[in-house]
Amino acid sequence: MEVVRPPGSRPLPGGGPRKAVFVDRDGTLNPDLKYLREAERLEVYRGVIAGIRILKAHGYLIVCVTNQSGVERGFYTDADVTRIHERVNQILGRGGVAVDRFYYCPHAPEHGCECRKPGTKLFRDAANDLGIAWARSAVIGDRVLDIEAGDRLGLCTVLVPSRGHREEVLREYPAKGPEPDLLAPSFYGAAVRILHRG
Ligand SMILES: [Mg+2]
Ligand SMILES: [Zn+2]
Repeated sequence: MEVVRPPGSRPLPGGGPRKAVFVDRDGTLNPDLKYLREAERLEVYRGVIAGIRILKAHGYLIVCVTNQSGVERGFYTDADVTRIHERVNQILGRGGVAVDRFYYCPHAPEHGCECRKPGTKLFRDAANDLGIAWARSAVIGDRVLDIEAGDRLGLCTVLVPSRGHREEVLREYPAKGPEPDLLAPSFYGAAVRILHRG
């Protein structure tokens, strides 16, 4: 049934018409270099371009949501984060794709903000900004906190344990958080599973 709203009112978060795949950044799109400041050092994992390409071919927006506590800790600035995001899209651009929108939390965990994952504020902001429907959308991440954030919103959750952290992350289950809906060996594998989830 169509929900009728007063003219000019904003759509409810999560009730929009579009579908999106929310992607984590460090350990998911690129190797996690721990408080990376220099954009030129950033590389993107193999298969990320191909994965984004098939998701976009099926109408998904690509929204990156990332925790960047290094800003509040003073390891790098907002401008550095912006340069890194430009670098990500520069690399993806070689394959003719891009992240549609980046959202990041600059706070340290002690801050107690709502935007640091597993908090869901940045996902809700994106849903408002872009008109995204949770039920048609998914999240891809390499850590339990990515899965937890997606689980809170009812997204299809896909865990891609990053290289070097696979054993550690899988050991965190089931004690540390909700299990992912899907487990994939790579970003490309995650994209394929999202398209085949039926
Ligand atoms: Mg990560
Ligand atoms: Zn925050």
